[in-house]
Amino acid sequence: MKIALQGLLPEELAALCRETGQPAFRAKQLWHWLQVQGVSDWGQMGNLPGAWKQRLAATHTPAAAVLAADSRDAGGTRKWLARLDDGETVETVLIPARDWTTVCLSTQVGCKMGCVFCASGQCGFARNLSAGEMVAQVHLVAAVAGRRPDNVVYMGMGEPFDNYAEVLKSIRLLNHPDGLKIGARRITISTSGVIPGIERLADEGLQVELSVSLHAPNSKLRRSLMPIENKYPLADLLAACREYTVKTKRFVTFEYTLIDGVNDSTGLAEELAGHLRKFSCRVNLIPLSPVEEYAGRAPKREAIESFQRVLAGRGVSVTLRDSKGQGVNAACGQLRRRTLS
Ligand code: SAH
Ligand code: SF4
Repeated sequence: MKIALQGLLPEELAALCRETGQPAFRAKQLWHWLQVQGVSDWGQMGNLPGAWKQRLAATHTPAAAVLAADSRDAGGTRKWLARLDDGETVETVLIPARDWTTVCLSTQVGCKMGCVFCASGQCGFARNLSAGEMVAQVHLVAAVAGRRPDNVVYMGMGEPFDNYAEVLKSIRLLNHPDGLKIGARRITISTSGVIPGIERLADEGLQVELSVSLHAPNSKLRRSLMPIENKYPLADLLAACREYTVKTKRFVTFEYTLIDGVNDSTGLAEELAGHLRKFSCRVNLIPLSPVEEYAGRAPKREAIESFQRVLAGRGVSVTLRDSKGQGVNAACGQLRRRTLS
């Protein structure tokens, strides 16, 4: 498989130039085409020598993620299937809002975590994405949508902390002052609760937002939804999150996907509030998006509101993801499943 050029930092492009006998300014030119112009076609890089491009093309690609399929929901959320160099496909989502746009990236082809309600979790794991394949997804969206995205969320297919180094590198590239310049505060990583990843992130000194998928306030229920509970139990996870908030002075957002009759009772809301009071955090409630692989449904509106009221009444800051936000999750593995079947 060819190396994704969008995954190379300026110093790595400079080294590539040295190795291939080119002056240093070529690295700057190449970076500009890739990260500023968002070009994915050698032919458009007019100021680079043809012979050099040909030589690089044997081992490297500027087209690490290309458009394979397109869909759009009523709220304006667009989902793309991006084809990678080896033919694997992942989902990339664009969520437009009035004043900004958000891209939802995939970090792996499939996912090992096997959450029962998630299409990505149910279709197995193929491989990790490289940093370049993640950055290329943002450029793909920017090119198709005709504008640079404002926010990036790592909430597509895959568990970001199961691919930690490449995810972090992609953040440094997206955040780079000479590139897309996506502010760290506008980048969110969502994890199903990989504790070592949370601990490492706390030490990075990055201003990125951290979301942790809880979906249940006790181990027994969580285990029935998320196999990761067997490895990283809830009590340890909450302790790691608390530690993160203390160390970084940042809050954590807990994602809670509401499933009718499974995790949506007011008793469970009280149990959840019990854990989260006096904790620098907020809860984001997400009504389940139906997936073929799982029989669950979203609760009725009243149940969602009761759950929300209990949390708010106990002093927990809580938001309900709107229909556009739901589109993000609806994307998690589903477009890929539909297209492959
Ligand atoms: N693997 C990471 C990030 C990708 S999933 C994680 O699990 O956090 C992003 C979010 O979508 C997670 O909170 C996940 O639980 C949620 N999700 C997955 N499938 C869903 C579905 N069918 N309906 C609603 N939310 C879902
Ligand atoms: Fe993986 Fe997240 Fe889906 Fe769970 S919800 S299977 S961790 S992508």
